Amino acid sequence: MTALFGLELHGRAVVVAGGGAVASRRVRRFVSEGAQVTVVAPELSADLERHAAHGDIAVERRGIVAADLDDAWFVLAATDDATLNDAIAQWAHERRVWCIDASDASKGSARQAATSKHGDLAVGVISLDTPDPGRIRAVRDAVAAHLDAGEVDLRRRRPGAGRVILVGSGPGDPGLITVRGRQALAEADVVVTDRLGATELLVTVPYDVEVVNVGKSPDNHPVPQHEINAILVDRARAGKTVVRLKGGDPYVFGRGGEEVHACIEAGIDVEVVPGITSALAVPARAGIPVTQRGVSTSLLVTTGHAGADQATIAAMAAGATVVILMGVSALPDIVDAALDAGCAVDTPIAIVENGTTARERVTRGTFEDIVRICSETGVKPPAIIVVGEVARPGLLAGALAATPDPAGEART
Ligand code: SAH
Repeated sequence: MTALFGLELHGRAVVVAGGGAVASRRVRRFVSEGAQVTVVAPELSADLERHAAHGDIAVERRGIVAADLDDAWFVLAATDDATLNDAIAQWAHERRVWCIDASDASKGSARQAATSKHGDLAVGVISLDTPDPGRIRAVRDAVAAHLDAGEVDLRRRRPGAGRVILVGSGPGDPGLITVRGRQALAEADVVVTDRLGATELLVTVPYDVEVVNVGKSPDNHPVPQHEINAILVDRARAGKTVVRLKGGDPYVFGRGGEEVHACIEAGIDVEVVPGITSALAVPARAGIPVTQRGVSTSLLVTTGHAGADQATIAAMAAGATVVILMGVSALPDIVDAALDAGCAVDTPIAIVENGTTARERVTRGTFEDIVRICSETGVKPPAIIVVGEVARPGLLAGALAATPDPAGEART
């Protein structure tokens, strides 16, 4: 009867017999588990040679002998000779060393599981009877997809120390959160959210998860930052897993630094899950590449709250792409300052409201007319303002065809 266990391979000697494709795949896994791997084979695949060159594995360039197993905890018999693999399984048996026989799993004392990792959980699937690798992988894939989609309640059942996870939810489209972000949401006892980002994701959290909305909306004032910090710390102190769901990336004009600082000061474990920032994703989704070889090779991300500061105006004048967050009300001042500094009046400007959502709207113009167009169309936050040649209408459709691409030139 076969039983499924989690083996701790870290720092333990693992011997792999064989240097072909199967051995390569498994060696990668053993190395990532932290095992001390010795590959015994007359010839190695290119992949194994690379591992050897990096010092990830030890190598014996010869055929395997029984004594190679003497100090091993675990053996993989993966030569291209089935009889030899079976003999290795027998040597392992005599030495009480666990062994996977790659040519016939029923001859070894261990079986390869199809595995996947999800945060601090691992899933493993094995066949109990006739080995069928394709089938166990299909089951693993189904379970893994279910977990990665955030569809499984991953809240801790055993009480433990409280913690805070800052999760960047991406710019709005719920498909643009990271896999780890999704998992963290499924682990949450409490979610502290505001109005930006992929708030739609909250419809999937269980009813008994406490959702605290600290966002600004037309009829309420935003909760002051020190109160948000206190909510995170207090809930974590009560032993909860608190997810702080934030729009875009937590550290891009998101005050994530203050929240992490508050946790560290309070001695609370805190993890940051980066998110896809609206500064990059919103232009991308609207068809604007923030850098483009031959058009713009540098990028400044700034906030309209800084107004028309010198760095921003200098970047515009130098032809860099400038992405402005929270810039709708400061736009007239920025345009005036740019024109005073001699920026070309026909510099393209694109403004994307509610990027990556169904309500996305793109408004285009230049320094000359963008302020008038904005007031006519009623541009409102949240919006990303992109200033620079990359915002020229039709850039990717036409103008680029003329840019040569000499062989060997570095991509910028
Ligand atoms: N941390 C966030 C930014 C927070 S500041 C991030 O990395 O994306 C808030 C500003 O972000 C808004 O005023 C707006 O300028 C911009 N923003 C966020 N989401 C947006 C979206 N979906 N569309 C347009 N602008 C957005």
